[in-house]
Amino acid sequence: MRTQLWINSQGAAGASGRTFDVLDPATEEVIERAPAGDAADVDAAVSAASAAFPAWRSLGAGTRAELLHEVARKLTVQTEALAELLTREGGKPLVENRDEMGWSAACFRYYAEIGRSTRGRVIPSGESSQLNLVLKEPYGVVGAITPWNYPILLMAWKVAPALAAGNTVVIKPSEMTPLSTLAFADIFDHLPPGVVNIVSGFGREAGEPLVLDPRVRVIAFTGSLETGRHIARLVADQMKKLHLELGGKDAFIVAEDANLEIAVPGVAWAALLNTGQVCTSTERVYVHERLAPEFVERMTEYARGLRLGGGLEPQTDVGPLIGETYRARVEAHVADAQARGARVLTGGRRPPSRSRGYFYEPTVLVNVDHSMRIMREETFGPTIPIMTYQTFDEAIRLANDSPFGLGANLYTQDARHVKQFYEEVQAGTLWVNDPLTDNDAGPFGGMKMSGMGRELGEEGLDEFRETKHLHWDFEGGGKPWWYPYGR
Ligand code: NAD
Repeated sequence: MRTQLWINSQGAAGASGRTFDVLDPATEEVIERAPAGDAADVDAAVSAASAAFPAWRSLGAGTRAELLHEVARKLTVQTEALAELLTREGGKPLVENRDEMGWSAACFRYYAEIGRSTRGRVIPSGESSQLNLVLKEPYGVVGAITPWNYPILLMAWKVAPALAAGNTVVIKPSEMTPLSTLAFADIFDHLPPGVVNIVSGFGREAGEPLVLDPRVRVIAFTGSLETGRHIARLVADQMKKLHLELGGKDAFIVAEDANLEIAVPGVAWAALLNTGQVCTSTERVYVHERLAPEFVERMTEYARGLRLGGGLEPQTDVGPLIGETYRARVEAHVADAQARGARVLTGGRRPPSRSRGYFYEPTVLVNVDHSMRIMREETFGPTIPIMTYQTFDEAIRLANDSPFGLGANLYTQDARHVKQFYEEVQAGTLWVNDPLTDNDAGPFGGMKMSGMGRELGEEGLDEFRETKHLHWDFEGGGKPWWYPYGR
């Protein structure tokens, strides 16, 4: 297993030589030690990326596309080993991490293709002698800072479009899950030196120097609102391009006409996938009052039947949380809800059968309201708080009553509900009758406090391209430039 920094196509121990422990969240045991990169390593990585940029930007588009297809091919070959490594450091069940590798490879293939198909457009000219071109140009060096919940997928969502647009990249993975990203040295090693560099380490020691380096023209960040705000303050003086994918508090509306056979497992999936640690996890459920008694009963039964376990145990439905501080936050949200009158119908505790690992039982709560932290702040855990509503207008109002606006879900067969939902709900991604599906060709990102910018789709490519407008007079400037002012 490769546990070195990757700078200018060379493995490196890191300038300080310091390392940190990477834990298995299912056992709390140390898996491996990773290099604690710092400002000196970031400086070397940004120097390498800067030096590599001119040649990479001018590489023929077809050649660049082939190199990105080769990333996808190597990733596909190594899926099993990478998925297992990611399960060990991140806790997700193996089957989910295999999916993550598959989606990541698909993302590289998608951008390999669209990166060579567009570079702007020709627009009608105001002058008959002019050609007007809108040109999309790479920025230069991109800093990609990633979280632990989907470390490879969210790296791919940044690195694939950034490279396809002609930029070079320095990646700073999360200190919770650096190993699977460091292993990508083997997957990027056919690229010219310096085009991709990987510096593991902590946020303050490795992330901040990357954010602050003036040679880095774009920071593409996925993580918490708190860190996103901090980064925005840090770069204000540099007017650096920022792309921020932050937290969420996604609502799921179950309309009066929903089919509970589908809605109960669907809502549970949206709330409990990756132990509720998806940025678009369902964190608030609004069920029409007529359906609510049966929905709640079935959901409680369903959640009780799920099997907790380590991600490498084949029967596991729900894995551990990533760490103790994350579990403590879930516990604090549940305790706050109970203190304000919520009832826990199942879960609400650490499983007695697991003395090691950051496990927490899938938890269904009722009698919740918007005064509770569990309905306002990102919980990021296996909780399903359920509220009832009387009218669809009320459901929409409740869904919008949040500072976040990442995603939202609806179960209905009624086209009028769908129309009102997509017109009025303030969220960047909306799902009707099929929660949490992805499509590389469509943009993903948040409204309100959930972030700025979009990943995936053509929008995701444009995040990494500056737009220029060229006015080209092909008569060689035959007209006088001294406009007769004052006449
Ligand atoms: P985090 O903010 O703690 O860390 C994210 C990354 O930022 C890590 O690599 C970390 O080392 C780095 N970092 C921390 N402090 C930094 C600093 N001062 N300067 C530069 N970098 C710094 O987030 P996390 O706990 O790793 O991830 C979970 C969060 O990510 C949740 O809030 C979740 O909703 C969000 N998320 C959002 C999306 C999305 O697409 N919107 C996707 C996945 C996760």
